[in-house]
Amino acid sequence: MPKTSRNKSFKIPKTMKAWVLGDPKELKLTQKPVPEPGAAEVLVRVDAVAICATDVEIIANGPPAMIEGGMPFNKNFTPGHEYMGTVVKLGSGVDEFKIGQRVTVEVHAGCGRCERCREGMYTACLNYGMNYGDKNKGHRANGFTTDGAFAEYAVNHINTLIPVPDQMSDAEATLVVTAGTAMYGLDAMGGLIAGKRLVVTGPGAIGLLGVAVGKALGAQPVILTGTRDNRLKLGKKLGADFVVNVRKENPVEAVRRITGGKGVHYVLECSGAPNALNEAAQMVNRGGRICLAGFPHEPVQVDLGNIVRNNIYVYGIRGEGKSATHRAMAFMEQRRFDATLIHTHTFSFKELPNAIKYARERIEDAIKVVVKMK
Ligand SMILES: [Zn+2]
Ligand SMILES: [Zn+2]
Repeated sequence: MPKTSRNKSFKIPKTMKAWVLGDPKELKLTQKPVPEPGAAEVLVRVDAVAICATDVEIIANGPPAMIEGGMPFNKNFTPGHEYMGTVVKLGSGVDEFKIGQRVTVEVHAGCGRCERCREGMYTACLNYGMNYGDKNKGHRANGFTTDGAFAEYAVNHINTLIPVPDQMSDAEATLVVTAGTAMYGLDAMGGLIAGKRLVVTGPGAIGLLGVAVGKALGAQPVILTGTRDNRLKLGKKLGADFVVNVRKENPVEAVRRITGGKGVHYVLECSGAPNALNEAAQMVNRGGRICLAGFPHEPVQVDLGNIVRNNIYVYGIRGEGKSATHRAMAFMEQRRFDATLIHTHTFSFKELPNAIKYARERIEDAIKVVVKMK
């Protein structure tokens, strides 16, 4: 049965249930007005939302969330950014989407007026967080600078919406933004990667889908490194040709062994380990490229001499720019990989703090924990 029902009208209440961030680590369930979509925006009824490591970070420490130019605590702010739902109301001028249409979202609606947004790098919008009072530049990053989806409804700019095919489940649709982030990292290093040798370091959600997207783009071989055998096993299911447990084998030597001493063209670094960049720089060949998608919390020492002498390019990405989510969705819609393999746990809206606890403490080796609204 198709899950989409076009041109339906939805009864929209005046208020909605929403979790808001109080003091650090404190989420409270409250009642908020249902937001109104403005020009080029729609109201999305949230149907499912995945928990991200960044949500855990925001709830505990604040950044990268920024509300009214400062910390997000006690500002009636609702986190949650990896969600999908149903369009239930259109703002003025919207004819790109229909009421009743299922959509998933990417996070950043850039301001559209800064240098980076004009280049398609809207996740690096120069007006990040400038969306209040006299400083309103139109930038929104739901769950970071504006209200997110730990609530029954959210307002989204149409630029952040990706249509969801009928056959795709709600839970799978929440994973598009994660796959899109991996796609953006591979884009940063050169995009079309058929035949290139690729290492992905760190089998978290982005790393695992980095393997899947890299394989779908034709990388050969795809090598995944990590510390946990069960995660590496999952990496194999998602397309890794080789996996290396760094507790058992030096990852640089393993990559040399697998590639016959040649090294790889690309490393997508998703571990955030302090020595990851140094190791990546020894895994790539001369002129190779490294994209940092994870990051350590403390400053780290880097052998820059090695990077310069070997003409190695190092990129950093933030999130999922340049419409990478749409390309990730194309792969998922074609079933080029099964993203649902990383969806490990499901909770109800009421149980959201428990869902976050599972994600934070990786209880039962939780990878992606999804909260379903009904
Ligand atoms: Zn996220
Ligand atoms: Zn901008």
